Amino acid sequence: MVALVTGASRGIGKACALKLAEDGYDVAVNYNSNDAKAAETVAEIEALGRKAKAFKANTADLTAVQGMFREIQKEFGQLDVLVNNAGVVDDAYLLMINEDSLSRSLNINIKGYFHCAQQAALKMMSKKHGKIVNVSSVSSILAVEGQGVYSATKGAVNSMTATLAKELAPRGITVNAVAPGFIETEMLDAIPEEKLTEYNKSIPVGHFGTAKDVANVVAALCSPAFDYVTGQVIVLDGGLSL
Ligand code: NAP
Repeated sequence: MVALVTGASRGIGKACALKLAEDGYDVAVNYNSNDAKAAETVAEIEALGRKAKAFKANTADLTAVQGMFREIQKEFGQLDVLVNNAGVVDDAYLLMINEDSLSRSLNINIKGYFHCAQQAALKMMSKKHGKIVNVSSVSSILAVEGQGVYSATKGAVNSMTATLAKELAPRGITVNAVAPGFIETEMLDAIPEEKLTEYNKSIPVGHFGTAKDVANVVAALCSPAFDYVTGQVIVLDGGLSL
């Protein structure tokens, strides 16, 4: 069994890659820029006794994604799971949103997910089996000030999940999403400390989640126990209400 996890050099993607390796998958580790961190993920997967290889590719770039899938085919010969995880956040209130940041967010968080889903579906269709899990965010359904662009991209992820699930179900492929709340990764570094304290108070379980919390749900959705679940957005946010 082979899984591709995008954005697996750190954070949630890395945790998903390690959990899937624990569950018996060989893992293609995608990343954008951090060669050293991607190599660490690969080494940690190999230490679990599974095969892993790092693939540097900007998921927003279709040509790079196509090249990555050709390399994965050569290296692993098959693909059973895609975790669409590579994403960026660049918070700004409406009047402060600039064109470059807007394009970058739309290109990585939406187009990148379509690029990888399209290539993965091509591989999975021939086997009539596959699992695609899209990492969305609770921001897709809760209004968080300053996250207009980010929440719109994650809303798009939820919509694409429902549609692709319908299109790909007859081909034996399930498509689901996870919508994490606040998860302790480097992505939270961009949020001011006082805001984080305020958000923390809105979480009934009393703390932020971990990347492992997300990986556990992603891996469950990839397991045979969830073969009859498709088109769903699973929220994991400690009961957050903003
Ligand atoms: P993170 O710590 O910032 O890590 C982002 C990862 O994505 C890195 O591995 C990075 O690779 C990779 N990446 C970024 N742009 C890429 C691109 N264009 N092509 C390929 N890889 C790219 O983020 P995270 O917190 O783990 O978030 C992962 C996902 O979870 C995102 O989709 C995010 O929206 C979602 N999420 C996060 C939270 C949270 O609270 N942390 C909550 C809800 C949802 P390099 O290091 O090589 O650049």
